Amino acid sequence: MKAEIITVGTEILLGDILNTNTHYLSNELANMGVDVYYQITVGDNENRLLNQLEESFKRSDLVVLTGGLGPTEDDLTKEVCARYFNLEMEFHQPSWDKIIEIHNKMKKTPTENNKKQAYFPVNSIILPNKYGTAPGCIMEKDNKTIIVMPGPPREMKPMFDNFVKPFLQKNSEDILESKVIRIIGVGESKVENDLLDLIQNQVNPTIATYAKDGECTVRITAKGKTVEEVEKLILPVAKEIKNRFKETVYGEDETTIEDEVAKILVKNNLTIAVAESFTGGMVSSYLINYPGISSVFMEGCVTYSNEAKMKSLNVRKETLNSVGAVSEQCAREMAEGVAARHNTNIGLSTTGIAGPEGGTEEKPLGLVYMGIKINNNTIVKKYIFNGDRQQIRYRACKTLLNDLRLELINMI
Ligand code: ATP
Ligand code: MG
Repeated sequence: MKAEIITVGTEILLGDILNTNTHYLSNELANMGVDVYYQITVGDNENRLLNQLEESFKRSDLVVLTGGLGPTEDDLTKEVCARYFNLEMEFHQPSWDKIIEIHNKMKKTPTENNKKQAYFPVNSIILPNKYGTAPGCIMEKDNKTIIVMPGPPREMKPMFDNFVKPFLQKNSEDILESKVIRIIGVGESKVENDLLDLIQNQVNPTIATYAKDGECTVRITAKGKTVEEVEKLILPVAKEIKNRFKETVYGEDETTIEDEVAKILVKNNLTIAVAESFTGGMVSSYLINYPGISSVFMEGCVTYSNEAKMKSLNVRKETLNSVGAVSEQCAREMAEGVAARHNTNIGLSTTGIAGPEGGTEEKPLGLVYMGIKINNNTIVKKYIFNGDRQQIRYRACKTLLNDLRLELINMI
């Protein structure tokens, strides 16, 4: 099925709001095996929207629209779609009752223009809105399908999930399943290169690589008649990919590097403390994202100044005077110092130059030292990361967490 997404709203065109609906819908539809060929944004304008529908249906079977379902004059999506299909609008009492009920709850009375939200093109499937007044709808004619949903993401997403997804799945003959293999510490081009033979010969399942936030994901998607059939297609390919990338594969499907590290820590009851300079608490914060980390996470110190490093972590003055804060020795003393505070199994540290100023020839921008103390052994990793201040900090965090993961899996 060929699909397009049309987000309606002048606010989007003006850059007042970020078009997250397109992002969400593209991802969801791709996961379902619906091919999205175009993403379009049209302002709140009747003629331009009508022209766009005409254009879109020359090349696609399905158009998903969001926005413009409100009660006001400039909310015109449903009406324009009805006009395109040449359908009358008809009053839907249950939707109106629901609108009155919502207003009653807020001790308000609906205005006359609210009634507009209870009118739908004849024969359309009405999509209830659990979180707002505007229901969505699905209209079908001549093998063309239009799906209209409200603009606010908190209303649109549950509507898509609860009603649109089952509708599309019911209409599709095949079921589609994906598995995601998550790789860290290997660039996308290397991943793709190492999978080239599989990618070039792919039919079912298909294999696609994506690079995101310093990680690389490989999505294996298979089509079939039953879940068992699809899983049988995916499994050997997943196994082969995991074999090729070995320990750089940190997880599958919905997970993160911090969750994987946290799981190992909790499972093995390994206590941890973190001392951070330029990452300013990010490493701690990532780890604390994981529910259940409280049994092992003791402390996260943000020791940004030299004074704090000396006072809180016992970093030696001589170290700071001789080799400076961004040094292997300082990272070592930080990791050991923070572990000693609570006698934890593990101490982590970060120190580096995130810029944009402060780089020298000897210590360039992006230079980072990160310490990992595990029991009686401390290692310090040196990296030079590219990017702006935030990217350097982010990459350093993820890299440190991955380095810790690698140390732990080799140890346990
Ligand atoms: P309402 O009843 O609130 O008017 P609506 O269905 O008419 O809803 P719009 O008026 O187009 O939708 O948008 C309402 C709000 O929803 C916007 O102010 C914005 O916050 C959010 N929104 C709309 N479209 C998008 C989009 N494509 N991505 C993210 N948010 C959006
Ligand atoms: Mg509106």
